[in-house]
Amino acid sequence: GNLAIMIAQSLPTPHESLDPVVSQLKRILVTGGAGFLGSHLCERLVNDRHDVICLDNFFTSQKKNVEHLLGCSNFELMRHDVTRPLWLEVDEIYNLACPASPGHYQYNPIKTMKTSVMGAINLLGMAKRCNAKILQASTSEVYGDPEIHPQTEDYRGNVNPIGPRACYDEGKRAAETLFMDYNRMNRVNIRMIRIFNTYGPRMHPFDGRVVSNFIRQALDGRDITIFGDGSQTRSFCYRDDLIEGMIRLMNAPDDLVTPVNIGNPGEYTIKELAEKVIELVGSKSKLTYHPLPADDPTRRKPDISLAKSRLGWEPTVPLEDGLKKTIDWFRTIDIEQYRPPTPNY
Ligand code: NAD
Ligand code: UDP
Repeated sequence: GNLAIMIAQSLPTPHESLDPVVSQLKRILVTGGAGFLGSHLCERLVNDRHDVICLDNFFTSQKKNVEHLLGCSNFELMRHDVTRPLWLEVDEIYNLACPASPGHYQYNPIKTMKTSVMGAINLLGMAKRCNAKILQASTSEVYGDPEIHPQTEDYRGNVNPIGPRACYDEGKRAAETLFMDYNRMNRVNIRMIRIFNTYGPRMHPFDGRVVSNFIRQALDGRDITIFGDGSQTRSFCYRDDLIEGMIRLMNAPDDLVTPVNIGNPGEYTIKELAEKVIELVGSKSKLTYHPLPADDPTRRKPDISLAKSRLGWEPTVPLEDGLKKTIDWFRTIDIEQYRPPTPNY
């Protein structure tokens, strides 16, 4: 027994190889890896030659999102639910598993909370055991309906703990708490990215988010559904910019354990977004107004000074360019292939 352990310990692990390229290669777990952002992250990590495990329960995604990676020897797909413990040996974990759009996360709010909290506990436990670095996909929703504008990372937020968005917002806030406490108590090497509204090809067409709704409606020539008077604002980040920011954060110096905003500071009203989508699609759709959902944030825009100074990161894709690429993708998909888990406007 002891001899076997001694021999095993003397063998170099893949990341300790003497080859300088191979020594940088890591075993990386991406939870929620078949989703919109997760699938692009997996693609990027596989291209960078890392050994990637994509874990998903396919609640809001389909295998099709990672089908093109299945033939790669450094890619592995695993069906699992993060609310259940798991045992793997990895060097890095990107924790993206969580339904992300209001329609998806409100479908089963208790499960959403469990996914954020129990998922964080299971993965932080694994990170502790493996001595792995772990990144949490947090969200601008931790700021709730913000009273300060733009939002800086030190703003503590204005979240209604008992409203319909709480399962997501408070779940993500509790996950941040767990990450900080595992860092303080157990020295787990953590990163937290606060993602602001991100869009692009491979968004779920029925996720009920504003970009996907407006594009589908405009392409079909149907009414555009504006909730409220359309004066509420959001700042939209193209997915490639987001993934670049996420990877830079994972690879940032180890002292950067506090949350970092990643988003595009370009701020638009929802009415402006609707008009832009109609124009880019060349659609005859009309704007229609519907009740504003409860606790819908009035304004949202990231302050990205921290990402700029610590990661040298800022977004490069203007809204119009990103929307064009997203519209082109929506034109190519077969909508029948997607299940609508949410009311389909
Ligand atoms: P998405 O729904 O496409 O991806 C989430 C993935 O997690 C899906 O593949 C889903 O099937 C999987 N999943 C959900 N519950 C799970 C569970 N219990 N176990 C295993 N897998 C599970 O959404 P996305 O936009 O790609 O979001 C990815 C992450 O980024 C999420 O954590 C989300 O909260 C966060 N985020 C996204 C945005 C955005 O604008 N896209 C904004 C803020 C935060
Ligand atoms: N919204 C809208 N019409 C839609 C879908 C969303 O006017 O068909 C609004 C929604 O009320 C919110 C904004 O667009 O003010 C962004 O909504 P989304 O669900 O995309 O994301 P989140 O509210 O989480 O930022």
